[in-house]
Amino acid sequence: MLEYKNLKNQDEEVMAVIKREMIRQAEEIELIASENYVSKAVLEAMASVLTNKYSEGYPGRRYYGGNQYIDEVETIAIERAKKLFSAEHANVQPLSGSPANAAVYMAFLKPGDKVLGLRLDHGGHLSHGHPVNFSGLLYNFTQYEVDSQTGLINMDKVRELALKEKPKMIVAGYSAYSREIEWQKFKNIAAEVGAFTFADIAHTAGLIAAGEMNNPVPIFDVVSTTTHKTLRGPRGAIIMCREQFAKQVDRAVFPGMQGGPHDHITAAKAVAFGEALRPEFKQYAKQVIANAKLMAEEFINLGYQVISGGTDNHLMVVDMTAKGLTGKDAEIILDKCGISVSRSTIPNDPNPPMNPSGVRFGAPAITTRGLKQAEVKKIVAWINAGLEQKDEPEMLNNIKARVKELCLEFPIPSI
Ligand SMILES: *Cc1c(COP(=O)(O)O)cnc(C)c1O
Repeated sequence: MLEYKNLKNQDEEVMAVIKREMIRQAEEIELIASENYVSKAVLEAMASVLTNKYSEGYPGRRYYGGNQYIDEVETIAIERAKKLFSAEHANVQPLSGSPANAAVYMAFLKPGDKVLGLRLDHGGHLSHGHPVNFSGLLYNFTQYEVDSQTGLINMDKVRELALKEKPKMIVAGYSAYSREIEWQKFKNIAAEVGAFTFADIAHTAGLIAAGEMNNPVPIFDVVSTTTHKTLRGPRGAIIMCREQFAKQVDRAVFPGMQGGPHDHITAAKAVAFGEALRPEFKQYAKQVIANAKLMAEEFINLGYQVISGGTDNHLMVVDMTAKGLTGKDAEIILDKCGISVSRSTIPNDPNPPMNPSGVRFGAPAITTRGLKQAEVKKIVAWINAGLEQKDEPEMLNNIKARVKELCLEFPIPSI
């Protein structure tokens, strides 16, 4: 357990802020779908002296001396990642999800090449071709959508678009989509038009690693994922691909995109992958999905519209307009209750992105804390009470006190 003794003595100002954040995390409910709590072991690896090292290159082929131990730890991370996802090749150096995706595009495309990706406001990610993002600026993206009735990706429409646009790459895997993805159908469409297939499993990687959702790694050409969402590791990312693409992927990460890898993070990734390979992690993933499914049902029972009518994974997008609120309103009200959520667009949202109609809820963090069905029911009831009685400060304070009580019963692992 980190004691922060030296930080306390040396820099009270920064220590005080860290302490306030520790208390916030300890006493509040985290429903932001992309967040999680790492283990103490992951935290300790991140805080190690491996941060002092420079190791541009790859194990056995470095541009700096003194890398014998870094080679060992990076090799452990690579081997564990390959085992977790049945991958032929893994690069564990990407600093985060967006830089990993930049490296994938660099490995397979030239600027101006045509790519198909899901629209950001339909559940995609900025790095899947949004016009303000490097991806939309450098590459010629056409964006597919979810069906406005069902909230699902319509594979016939994706095929139509692919036949018309003849993209060089098709991107699947999303930030705010709650259903299984038909990886093989994407692959078949790509094969018809001669496109590369790229899966970005940043959100669902932990559920896939645990065998609780379908794995695109054996089907797709290249797959990226963050390591800090459902996979419950340090902030960072990895890229996996078939052996035939290994060289071009590695070259794109370094020297293409990045300089020296963050070796302390690589060590923490190795530790997290080790945790994900254990049977307890499969139980964790099962519980995440069970908690999310129940959360969606409870919202529906209370009269909310859940996009696509439920969830197959760890998250859901809930339309707030039926309650006379926007997503931003709900986010602010729930903050006052000690419940963190993130506003979200809904498909074909009539409201602007800064103040969209929906909220995205996720179960990964509360499940790491040990919360199960009984607590999920309480939380959704509190959320509904807070939103319905938003103008009564006493009500919101009361919810906040009960949230704190529950949280203290289920401490987070790293505090
Ligand atoms: C979170 C996410 C990313 C980006 O990860 P960062 O680490 O924030 O850069 C990329 N793709 C998808 C689908 C994501 O959900």
